[in-house]
Amino acid sequence: MSKRCVALLSGGLDSMLAIRLMQEQGIEVEALNFKTLFTCCQDQSAQAAHDLGVRLTVVSQDDDYLELLRKPEYGYGKGANPCVDCRIYMFDKAKRFMEQIDAGFIISGEVVGQRPMSQKRTDLEVIAHHSHLDDLLLRPLSARVLHPTLPEREGWVDREKLYGFVGRSRKELIALGKKLGLRSLPTPSTGCALTEPLFSQKVFDLIQIQPQARRWDYEVLRQGRHFRFDAETKVMVGRNEAENDALKYAHQLPDAASTAYLYPANFLGPFALVAGRASEKAVAFAAGLLLKYGKFEGPGEPLVEVVQRDQPSRQVVAAVSDAVETARTLGSEPTSRRSQQPI
Ligand code: SF4
Repeated sequence: MSKRCVALLSGGLDSMLAIRLMQEQGIEVEALNFKTLFTCCQDQSAQAAHDLGVRLTVVSQDDDYLELLRKPEYGYGKGANPCVDCRIYMFDKAKRFMEQIDAGFIISGEVVGQRPMSQKRTDLEVIAHHSHLDDLLLRPLSARVLHPTLPEREGWVDREKLYGFVGRSRKELIALGKKLGLRSLPTPSTGCALTEPLFSQKVFDLIQIQPQARRWDYEVLRQGRHFRFDAETKVMVGRNEAENDALKYAHQLPDAASTAYLYPANFLGPFALVAGRASEKAVAFAAGLLLKYGKFEGPGEPLVEVVQRDQPSRQVVAAVSDAVETARTLGSEPTSRRSQQPI
């Protein structure tokens, strides 16, 4: 009889309820949270684990996640979110963790029909099957409307004490949370930037125009305004001091795809990175952006310091050209406008 399971814990209400239902049956729970390039709910999961009194292990995505993101077998949701493939990926990793710690099965807070992209009944079956968990994957909140899993059939878990929730209503889940004595009732956990339409445009830009883009290119998507200069080159401009610092830091990383950084030499303005080929035109475009988003009050000409890899630092005169004037950040225009004009 297995009295130990692994739970995927996002920190949202559903995963907390699933864990609490196991604890009510005397089952020990080991929580697992996935740190993705695009999520930011680790603090929420840590708080939830603390409230529930379970040990939490945080797992980072490997680079193979990018392959999945570029070509998801089950497609995208409304944004660039490949939820079914992503869940398969997570559960596959969770299975290995389960085996390492000698737990008996895995639980999640998924509810049939709650999310259109990944929680339709068939999606849940596909996810369980392709993660090689099959009936070792128990969804306590919807178990009563799903086929009995191994933990239920073997009597490790009492199916009668599980639930049969279906659909998007939160009311009954919140009521269950109160009944189970959860001190906080968090909103459903998303925190995944891939579901945001504007952020998704930046992701699709990389997938479609720079299919060779690496982890660094994706990690930096959250920082600054992004402009596509040409098929090989992007320019990123900080929107505030924190983003300027983040871009500076990103530039110093060993795997950085940035080839130059720029900052105003005699005026106030942001910091910029050129990622890809730092041609003279690309540098002029980036310098123009610094002027556009900066504040030059003279005297003289606005100068920008350009530091290219393996080259001495130099200064260029910044000018707001037509391309700079009409430049729009990625994520504010449809991705169909792909030309030298920034999208
Ligand atoms: S919302 Fe994001 S993290 Fe969650 S399953 Fe979908 S792609 Fe994965």
